[in-house]
Amino acid sequence: MKDSKDKVIDILSEIKLPNSSEDLISSKCIDNIKYDKELTIITIGLNSSEMKYKEIIKRNCLFHFENKDPKSNYEFEFVIDKKRSDSISNNEIKKDEKIKIKNIKNIIAISSGKGGVGKSTISSNISVSLAKLGYKVGLVDADIFGPSIPTMFNTENEQPNYKNINDKNIIIPIEQYGIKLISMGNIIPKEKAIIWRGPMASSALKQLFTDVEWKSLDYLIVDLPPGTSDIHITLSQSFEITGTIIVSTPQKVSTIDAEKAISMFRNENTNIPIIGLIENMSYFKENDNKHYLFGKGGGKEISIKHSIDFLGEVPIDNSISQSCDNGYPVSLKDNYISKVFKELSKNIDEKIMRLKNK
Ligand code: ADP
Repeated sequence: MKDSKDKVIDILSEIKLPNSSEDLISSKCIDNIKYDKELTIITIGLNSSEMKYKEIIKRNCLFHFENKDPKSNYEFEFVIDKKRSDSISNNEIKKDEKIKIKNIKNIIAISSGKGGVGKSTISSNISVSLAKLGYKVGLVDADIFGPSIPTMFNTENEQPNYKNINDKNIIIPIEQYGIKLISMGNIIPKEKAIIWRGPMASSALKQLFTDVEWKSLDYLIVDLPPGTSDIHITLSQSFEITGTIIVSTPQKVSTIDAEKAISMFRNENTNIPIIGLIENMSYFKENDNKHYLFGKGGGKEISIKHSIDFLGEVPIDNSISQSCDNGYPVSLKDNYISKVFKELSKNIDEKIMRLKNK
């Protein structure tokens, strides 16, 4: 049996430095490993430009050690290592060096400041309407603490299949209504999801991009968790995301949080283009009259205030919630609501063409 030192070194040599082919051992950035009965403290030396990625490295370490040696306790310290400065400054991640997922033309993250505003409903229906426009579409449910895509697509009891390629387990997405689906809800048991810490959730999310057989897609829609968390930051720093769409309801309690999401995506560490804002539950339609139950124009107001495109309004309608509950998104039907989603999807598609041609 390996002693604990060998085990620690084995695990560290599986952890790659961000944006580098080197791991933590081959890059010689382990300064010290202090063994104790109760706790092992690993000191990692980075140069000053690498320091800004220490959170990513720490997350990867926590994830690997938790998986490979769950019974032991580890702590990770970071120090500036001047000796490394010159030799590896080329390993610095640059914004344009984020991972580009092969064969996926566009990754669209759907986000909201608040839960319950209809982010998953919009993600599902946008996916279906883009597919109806003739695009190949995948949908990732990244809402680890409240995955609802399996309910909305009636795949709650399904498990994705796996296949082994070069000693790596590759997930084959579940396919429903022509959309390729992967949900944290189908992968992590419910009772485990709540105890997953940020770093583990972030690492698992990364695998949903890199270890899934997506084949070729025009659009990969990502239903993010609400708010501004570790997961958002990992996603935006690790992958080339085409842009994000913010979902808000008209009320102030929702628009205030949507504004927080806008500033997070505009932050220089995140820096993801904002495709636009969708206002959900904008009005209730009765015959030809629109009733603005939650006030009028809240979404438009913050779009103007922050100079982002207003992509459209989605009415409040019980056919939307019923279809969600029945696992058959309303966009699959042919009615006035599916037309609303069709228009929204066309707006998104056109906006993305414009973004790409800039
Ligand atoms: P979130 O992903 O933001 O937490 P969900 O998409 O799960 O929100 O929506 C929360 C609830 O609101 C669901 O029951 C959904 O069916 C319902 N809902 C969302 N949008 C609408 C709408 N426009 N009209 C009616 N019900 C809606």
